[in-house]
Amino acid sequence: MGQLDGKTALVTGGTSGIGLASARRLAAEGATVFVTGRDQGKLDEAAAAGLVAIRSDVSDPADLDRVFATIAERGRGLDVLFANAGGGEFATLGDTTWEHYEQTFHRNVGGTVFTVQKALPLLNPGASIVLTGSTAADGSSSAFGMYAATKAAIRSLGRTWAAELVGRGIRVNTIVPGPVETPGLAGLAPDASQVDTLFKGLIASVPMDRLGRPDEIADAVLFLASGQSSFMTGAALYVDGGANQV
Ligand code: NAD
Repeated sequence: MGQLDGKTALVTGGTSGIGLASARRLAAEGATVFVTGRDQGKLDEAAAAGLVAIRSDVSDPADLDRVFATIAERGRGLDVLFANAGGGEFATLGDTTWEHYEQTFHRNVGGTVFTVQKALPLLNPGASIVLTGSTAADGSSSAFGMYAATKAAIRSLGRTWAAELVGRGIRVNTIVPGPVETPGLAGLAPDASQVDTLFKGLIASVPMDRLGRPDEIADAVLFLASGQSSFMTGAALYVDGGANQV
């Protein structure tokens, strides 16, 4: 018997990296898992792996409406929402433009706010919302200011929403990964030849001396999504090889 038999989950940004590993983990525990992403090739791969893939940009309100209409049509509500889609680009303070600022906040904060808001009518009693923060929010990564600020906002929203939704029996927790080897992380390098250098620099900040793996975050997401964490809400769960702890 799976821990999530008969449950329905949505993972935004669920076709790559942390989102894909988590979607597969939730599905392996018996949930019907909807995933969203923007790349049709990756959506097709996710569908082939048994996930229900919907093309959607989290920063597009019409796309979000379409996603939740599709889930509503199934008539079983939503038990797990992993609001995970997001990303960032490096920019020093001096290089930060209004466009960079707006795009980063629009995608990471706006995308999360309106994903969670539009999920509200569908959430079943006992539902679990998991947000994706980052150790970058603690301000330790240079030239990552806007991204770090969006993730600090996510952490703050997670606490506020936990208080707002506790009366409905809905829990809200934030997973806080350190550097994890994903296509998104590799994409931060200026080109493919510099990925190794980027990774080595990041590993230097991790006491465990390596990057995390997406499945290690997925295990923690399953914990927050399932009844195993039934007495947790408003919490931040760091999975970071000790990066912000040791
Ligand atoms: P990834 O690029 O491998 O996957 C991100 C997914 O989000 C992709 O499916 C992408 O299509 C989707 N996505 C991005 N912007 C989107 C948008 N506007 N609309 C819909 N989908 C969108 O990256 P990842 O490393 O797995 O990152 C997943 C989450 O984890 C992000 O929120 C990221 O900020 C966070 N995070 C990553 C790390 C890391 O080191 N990899 C560390 C801390 C936090």
